[in-house]
Amino acid sequence: MIFIDAARVHELLSYGECIPVMRDAMARLSAGETEQMLRQILPLDQGRMFGVMAGTMGPGGAWGSKLVSVTPERSDPSIPSHQGVVILFDPETGAPACQVEAGAVTAIRTASASAMATDVLARGDARELAILGTGEQAHHHALAMLEVRTISEIRIWGRTAAKVEALCQALSQETGTPVNACSSVEDAVSGADIICTVTAARDPILPVSCVKPGAHINLVGSSFDGPREINDDLVEASRFFADSSASVRAQGAEFRHALKAGAVDETHLIGEIGEVILGKIAGRLRADDVTIYNSLGHIIQDIAAAAFIFEKARAGT
Ligand code: NDP
Repeated sequence: MIFIDAARVHELLSYGECIPVMRDAMARLSAGETEQMLRQILPLDQGRMFGVMAGTMGPGGAWGSKLVSVTPERSDPSIPSHQGVVILFDPETGAPACQVEAGAVTAIRTASASAMATDVLARGDARELAILGTGEQAHHHALAMLEVRTISEIRIWGRTAAKVEALCQALSQETGTPVNACSSVEDAVSGADIICTVTAARDPILPVSCVKPGAHINLVGSSFDGPREINDDLVEASRFFADSSASVRAQGAEFRHALKAGAVDETHLIGEIGEVILGKIAGRLRADDVTIYNSLGHIIQDIAAAAFIFEKARAGT
């Protein structure tokens, strides 16, 4: 069994490669080809969590598991928020074939899945991008969005000004796109066509009143039924899509809260991004629709990305 570390993951998996891998994986999920267990989350000390996920791509395809520790509060900034392994099994022999460092896979596949959803749901003329958050996902989301739309400006908001400045500087150098620091959420999202919420906030940060008609939102920061980045009124005002409907119904904090409060009913969750890709349901209907892609993260994304990486590593690329 081989081990593929984080540096090699970054060499082997670009956003441009990962976006179509996510499109195919989400379509297979929504076609019912894959099998997966609902993610299990074990609470640890100091607000940390241990996540266990397992799934298979379906007959003849790879299967595997992700074991990941999540550390939201870190005194040492060099420690990533997600650390662990994706273990991929060989469908020919049934043996474990490789271990892939999970932090890098999670960062790239999550941003790529959001970019894919943006490509499917956002307006074709979307240009202005707002990123709420300054962590690992914020950085990856900004880069991945550039793959699917011609972005004229990136605006960044975070709760720590120094981190906003640092991310702006890094993105400015990496992309050549104008990147501007914002001192309020309102400044960041005002006029934005694409908004990515990628924070570990526990309470809503993005008011409905700040969201421009026609905007697309990637709602990414909350992965379990607890923290919420948006309030019921924004859920209600949107055409709301999931990575996995089963996951969002069971663990999606924003949708479940809006449902319990009576702001929406079960039908408000229109369906999965994969169903839109397959043409089973409609995505954006009107230019002024606010669309939301709720990403909780899915094991099928990890397995599909790890299988792609493993094939390239095996081929010696
Ligand atoms: P990081 O720890 O690198 O970054 C977290 C960000 O959230 C930082 O900008 C932090 O600000 C900010 N933040 C924390 N608390 C608050 C708050 N109360 N209000 C506003 N901002 C806050 O994490 P990642 O970038 O790796 O992940 C971001 C979120 O996305 C996490 O919640 C993570 O669990 C989730 N995630 C979701 C995935 C999915 O598939 N849907 C996959 C991976 C992650 P500061 O540094 O200033 O404290």
